[in-house]
Amino acid sequence: MTYSVSPIGFVRSCFKEKFAIPRQPQLATAARGVLELVAPFDQGDAVQGLEQVSHVWLLFLFHQALEDKPRLKVRPPRLGGNKSMGVFATRATHRPNGIGQSVVKLDKVEANRLWISGIDLLDGTPILDIKPYVPYADIIATASNEIASAAPQIIPVQWQDNALQQAQIHAQRLQEPLVELIEQCLAQDPRPAYQVPTAEREYGAQFWDLDVRWHYPEPGVIRVLEVVPAG
Ligand code: SAM
Repeated sequence: MTYSVSPIGFVRSCFKEKFAIPRQPQLATAARGVLELVAPFDQGDAVQGLEQVSHVWLLFLFHQALEDKPRLKVRPPRLGGNKSMGVFATRATHRPNGIGQSVVKLDKVEANRLWISGIDLLDGTPILDIKPYVPYADIIATASNEIASAAPQIIPVQWQDNALQQAQIHAQRLQEPLVELIEQCLAQDPRPAYQVPTAEREYGAQFWDLDVRWHYPEPGVIRVLEVVPAG
């Protein structure tokens, strides 16, 4: 039996590629985006009342990870990428039906768009549904998860002087908390756990319309090298 779903909107996100997106929402509060609603949900009626809500659940499609053949076991990056787990024990992107869910902060409600932050969503992500976060039901004080017991460890992020100046200039232009965004995302060390980078090895990712490059001058430390318009 098959069912079809269609998006109620699409996210315009600070994240233009998968690499360096936090592994869950709320890990980078400076990660912002706009959920653009599509017809018939873009006239105001569908979001009426949402201005009374601080956070929403977004149900979405991992549109850049859809696969025909469902996987039963996955290798979550969190476990170093070399240990496999049942797909339903993880939040892996490769999963039956490719459905993701994230709790995000609702910063502003307009008739045809929602301004959101704390996101872990790629630019262009199709949104299937929006539901208000309900603290009395959604907070489970006794909940536990031994596979993912704590947020990823944070590592220090340093800036080369020119890179910090570049980020500050672009932050002004974009009117976005760009320095915080870069620091919050890189502090979670996006590098695959199995890679042991030399100091010479450079990494890069696109945030908004900018290429951000960094390296690991010593183990466990990141230094941002440049923040330049994406080529
Ligand atoms: N919070 C969601 C969940 O639990 O279902 C997503 C968790 S998943 C581990 C987060 C990762 O999904 C991000 O780091 C990013 O690399 C990837 N991602 C985000 N949006 C995506 C999309 N539209 N298609 C494919 N991958 C995506």
